[in-house]
Amino acid sequence: MSLRPLNRIWRTIGFRLTLWYSALFIVSSLILFVIVYFLISSSFRQEERYTIQSKLREFSAQYQRGGIEALKREVGFEEHSGNLFFVRVSGSRGNTLFVNIPAMMGEGFDTRQIENRAVAGSGRWMHLPAKGDKGGVLDIASTNLPDGRILQVGMSRGEREEFLDRFRKTFAGIIIPVILLGFTGGVLFAFRALMPIRNIIKTVRSIDKGRLDARVTVRHTGDELEELTVLFNGMLQRIEVLINGMRSALDNVAHDLRTPLTRLRGTAEMALQSGQGMEVCREALSDCLEESDQILTMLNTLMDISEAETGVMRLRLERINLSLLIEDVVDLYRYVAEERNIAIYVKTPGGLFLTADHSRMRQVIANLLDNAVKYTPAGGRVYVEASREGDHVIVRVEDNGIGISEEELPKIWGRLYRGEQSRSARGLGLGLSLVKAVVHAHMGSVEVYSEPERGSGFVIYLPVNAA
Ligand code: ADP
Repeated sequence: MSLRPLNRIWRTIGFRLTLWYSALFIVSSLILFVIVYFLISSSFRQEERYTIQSKLREFSAQYQRGGIEALKREVGFEEHSGNLFFVRVSGSRGNTLFVNIPAMMGEGFDTRQIENRAVAGSGRWMHLPAKGDKGGVLDIASTNLPDGRILQVGMSRGEREEFLDRFRKTFAGIIIPVILLGFTGGVLFAFRALMPIRNIIKTVRSIDKGRLDARVTVRHTGDELEELTVLFNGMLQRIEVLINGMRSALDNVAHDLRTPLTRLRGTAEMALQSGQGMEVCREALSDCLEESDQILTMLNTLMDISEAETGVMRLRLERINLSLLIEDVVDLYRYVAEERNIAIYVKTPGGLFLTADHSRMRQVIANLLDNAVKYTPAGGRVYVEASREGDHVIVRVEDNGIGISEEELPKIWGRLYRGEQSRSARGLGLGLSLVKAVVHAHMGSVEVYSEPERGSGFVIYLPVNAA
C-alpha cells in the first residue's frame, strides 16, 4: 500500500496543529490529575497523622489520670463512637501490658508483629503493611509515658486508600472522553485557525484561473491573520490595477500608433509605386524620417503616461528648488515667445523647495508653458506664478490666449485629444495627459479654468514632501 496519502496528511499544518493541540490538552489534563492526586493524598496523610497524634496525647492524658483502666474506658468509648484505633501499652522491655485491636484491623493486619516489637522513644512512627496482597498500611505513633511505659496509637489508611482508589478509577474512566475531547478540540481549533489560510489558497487558485477580481473574505478578528488578509487583498488590488493598466496601455499604444504607422507605410508605398525619379523618393524618405521621429516621441510619451498612471514610473525624488527650475524653463521659451511678441511674466519666491523628480517637473512646467505660448496669439501675455500654501506648493500658468470652450474643457486631459482650434498648431495631443499623470504620480492634482478668446489658466498643487 502506498504511504504517500498518509505522508501528505502528516505534512499538512492542520493535521500537525490538531496533534499538537490534542497532545497539549491530554498532557495538561494528566499533569493536572497528578497534581490534584498528590495534593489530596498528602492532605489526607497530614490529617491522619494529626488525628493519630492528637489521640496519642488524649490517651496518654487519660492514662496519667487513671492508669490502664481509664485508658481502656476511653478506648472503648471511642470504638463505640465508630473511631477504630489500635492502642497498645507496653513495658519498658517491650512486653504488652494492654492492647486494643479492632476486629477489622485484626483481620487486615498481622498486629502480632507490633506486639513482639520493642519500641522506644516518643515521636517514633511505624508503618505496618496489610497481610498478603490486600494493600493498605497501618500507621502507628508512639510516646513515652511518665512511668517508663510506652503508649502506641495506630490508625489504618484504609479510608484514604479507598478514596484515592475511587479517584484513580474515575480518572481512568474519563481519560478516553478527555482524549476524544482533546482531539475534537484540536480539529476545531486547527480548522478555525487555518480558515484565513484556506481562503487565501482558494483566492489564489481562482486568480490562477483568470479571476483577477477575487479577494479573500476578511474576518475582523484583530489578529495577525486579519492583518495578513488585508495586506494580501491590498496587494491583489495593486496587482489588478497594474495588470489592467498595462493591458489598457498596450491597447492604447497599439491603437495610437496604428494611424501614424499607416501614414508612414502609405508614404513609402506611394513613393515606390509612383515610379518617379530620385527627387520624389528622397522627399518620401524625408517624410518617413519625420514621421518615424514623431512615432518615437509619441511612443516614449505614451509609455511615460502609462507608467505614471499605473504607478510604476520610477521617480527620482530629491529636494528641488522649484523657483530655479521655473526660471530655467522660462528662459528656454523666452526666445520663441519674443519672436511671437508674447511677454512672459514670472513671479516666484526666492527659494521654493519641494521633494520631486527634477526632470519630470521640468517636463510638466515645460508642457504647460509650451501650450500657453502656442495657444496665445501675438502680442499676448503669459504669467507663471509659484507659491507655497501650508504643506503644498502651487504653480499657476496663465495666458490671455484663445481659451478653451466649455465642452472641450473635460476632454483636454484625454490621450491624443487636440482641440478644434489647435489642429493647425504642432503637437501630438499628449502634453496634458503627461502633465496630469506625472502630477498624480507626485500625489498632487491639477485644475484648469478657461474662457474662449480670453485665455486659460492651469494650476498644479504639489505636496512639499511627496512620499
Ligand atoms: P497638444 O498641445 O499637443 O494639442 P495637449 O495635451 O498639450 O496637446 O493639449 C490638449 C488640448 O488642450 C490642445 O489641443 C488644446 O486644444 C487645449 N489646450 C491646452 N493648453 C491650452 C491653452 N493654454 N490654451 C488653449 N488651449 C489649450
